Amino acid sequence: MEPERIFKKAESGRPLNREELKTLLTLEKEDDVSRLLEEAYRVKLAAVGKKVYFRGIIEFSNICEKNCLYCGIRRDNGSVERYELPEEAVLAAAEFASSRNYGSVVIQAGERSDEGFVSTVEKLLKKIKKASSGKLGITLSLGEQSEEAYRRWFEAGAHRYLLRIETSSRELYKRLHPKDHSFDGRRKCLELLKSCGYQVGTGVMIRLPFQTYDDLAGDLLFFREADVAMIGMGPYLPSGNTPFGKLTEKDFPISEDPCSLAIKMIAVARVFLRDVNIASTTALQALNPKGREMGLKAGANIIMPNITETRFRPSYQLYDNKPSVDENAVECVKRLEEAIAAVGEEIGYGEWGDSPHFGKKK
Ligand code: SF4
Repeated sequence: MEPERIFKKAESGRPLNREELKTLLTLEKEDDVSRLLEEAYRVKLAAVGKKVYFRGIIEFSNICEKNCLYCGIRRDNGSVERYELPEEAVLAAAEFASSRNYGSVVIQAGERSDEGFVSTVEKLLKKIKKASSGKLGITLSLGEQSEEAYRRWFEAGAHRYLLRIETSSRELYKRLHPKDHSFDGRRKCLELLKSCGYQVGTGVMIRLPFQTYDDLAGDLLFFREADVAMIGMGPYLPSGNTPFGKLTEKDFPISEDPCSLAIKMIAVARVFLRDVNIASTTALQALNPKGREMGLKAGANIIMPNITETRFRPSYQLYDNKPSVDENAVECVKRLEEAIAAVGEEIGYGEWGDSPHFGKKK
């Protein structure tokens, strides 16, 4: 089907199928790609508006029990200096976010499920909520946990949770993870999170080794089937100190430039899913200094500035050459404000910026 007919079908509210999604993802001609971006931006304005919402990221800890084969902070990477932020550093970052009128923060860490970790996070959530008089929204990105942990954190004040599936292809998932990591377990956690009342986000990596366009179309179908409120996805970036870091170009069936493909994936997600929140991730900026702005023009509406104290940032490298590692939070937000104004958008200061999709479901 021609792109224009696919756009019309999406506009009419009928879900796109795998072949139609693949048609959009494989557009190559400059005019066709420009038309896709134009349509995605039109849908964005109609469905979620022109405001960009900030989520200040606090990289709470790089200690992880898991061993994903692509990740720079995987358990077996002995070259990483491990840390957990002291309570004062987390509260100071949250205070920075409040004072700058960010609507919310994201607390992100490697995965740990011990009681010490669960209760530390629970206490931090209560303190952040109290210090901000309940105003600061809190998203968690702390991996797979028990239902009890999810409930305790929800009751302590978190209201959104980001758990990326990384790929919706069961076969590819197996190649990305050691044998004791379970696709079904992760899928089940997404359901648990929804049943606890969270606004749930998920996402994938784009242009992974062994990944095909068909897999990416499947990822978009998965987002719809899982009925999530937010999407956080970006290009796969290798980390040298991992098993995947040793793979070569011949292991990538998709030869397209990862930044362009990630931008197209954002645009197709916007055309297909309409009213969800979509993040323009730091990984885009790692490939192109203007990557995050390009993400906004392709339909994204969320930006996650890093507000972790700079001295801890070099140890939270999920991939090599992560940008803004030494840029302090004030410099970072100044650059972002300029970049957002340059693309003609405004920042939703002081607002949580929940996804309209979640609001409608409620
Ligand atoms: S991707 Fe997440 S769960 Fe996997 S090793 Fe990295 S931090 Fe741990």
